[in-house]
Amino acid sequence: MKDLSELKKVEQYADQCMKCGFCSFFCPVYQEERIETGVARGKNYLAKLIIKGEQEFTPEMGEILGKCLLCKRCVANCPSKTQIDRVVVAARAQMVKEKGLGFIKGFVFRRAMANRKAMGRYARLMQTFQWLLPKTEGKVRHLPDFIKSLGGRNFPALARTFLREQVKTVYPAVGPRKMTVAFFMGCATDFVYPELGLSLISFLTRRGVEVRVPKEQNCCGAAILFSGDFATARFLADENVKALKDVDYVVTACGTCSSTLKDYKKYLAGNEDEEKRYGELESRVKDATEFIIDVLKVKPEELTLKKEFEGKTATWHDPCHLIRYQNIKEQPRAILKGLKGLTYAEMPNADLCCGMGGSFSVYHYDITKKIAAKKMEGIKATGADIVVTACPGCMINLLDNVLLNKMPQKVYHLLELVE
Ligand code: SF4
Ligand code: SF4
Repeated sequence: MKDLSELKKVEQYADQCMKCGFCSFFCPVYQEERIETGVARGKNYLAKLIIKGEQEFTPEMGEILGKCLLCKRCVANCPSKTQIDRVVVAARAQMVKEKGLGFIKGFVFRRAMANRKAMGRYARLMQTFQWLLPKTEGKVRHLPDFIKSLGGRNFPALARTFLREQVKTVYPAVGPRKMTVAFFMGCATDFVYPELGLSLISFLTRRGVEVRVPKEQNCCGAAILFSGDFATARFLADENVKALKDVDYVVTACGTCSSTLKDYKKYLAGNEDEEKRYGELESRVKDATEFIIDVLKVKPEELTLKKEFEGKTATWHDPCHLIRYQNIKEQPRAILKGLKGLTYAEMPNADLCCGMGGSFSVYHYDITKKIAAKKMEGIKATGADIVVTACPGCMINLLDNVLLNKMPQKVYHLLELVE
């Protein structure tokens, strides 16, 4: 008897679809390709065929399942709230169980990303040799054109000193201690944007928060989980549950990390013990923007804008993992609108996925660029000087596309704007 346990768990969500096709107006992938299998309705239908035993996990099926950003725009706009993210991720997990992960993904996920020390060594190796790649400008480099499908892609250089090499284990609160949090750094902040982590730690301690940086924390596992490697994702979830205990909250500056840490229970829990442990972690995780406004109750108008941003106009890009995975929409806007000296301009398609979708952009860079081109039109329409967001993954993709489209805007994390 064929193992369909992962898909069976989400059959109820696939069944919710009433085939109205409304999702096709909102799916960024369908809008580019106009192929029925690219949209939630098509994927739901195929998932149900697999469950009924009428469809096999063929390479074509793998391609179809891979062509989803997991942006949840379809879920947000579906009249029956069909949870395609659950269906797609479960179908990918089922396929991994049946067909395996393949050599490259197996090596990257299990030997590198899931082993914090090994990941640090690989990142250091890449940092040492990144000078071989052509420079675009400043600290931005790009891949040579001959690298098939990803050629020309711009990305920020890896940091000279990673965050893990700079942080202490405990940062006491300045003044009376209100609470204790664990800072979850995440890979992009660790290797690419260490200054972000240091800014957040300083921001929090100056507001009476003791910040601990547990050395045992590991990658959140987003790319691994969303690719369907549930065994490795569970290993990481267990590591992080152990590392992030005994604090009031867990705070991170990465929207994908906060979302993934909150969603271990939803995607991975397979028994009561996991439900309890993952659920307990979920209840304490806060994205930095959410923590600043909802927990610390900081008044945005009392924050100080850094001098270099005075007189600038900023627009906000909603990371999918903030707006649709965590319902975080107003908090970052409140901060931007409250900062004296900064003008805020809402972009027309602020909630449109930037097109990154984690490893989606590795396999479908051509579609990523087309989706991002629409985001760029939105940015241009605002006349803003700077694009602000709160997910390092989005920052990397926005930076690439701003440069590809020869636009003058710079991309920042929200925390980079405030003292
Ligand atoms: S909008 Fe929802 S119910 Fe309608 S076809 Fe899409 S997934 Fe199905
Ligand atoms: S999650 Fe995003 S990319 Fe995937 S089907 Fe829904 S709208 Fe399309």
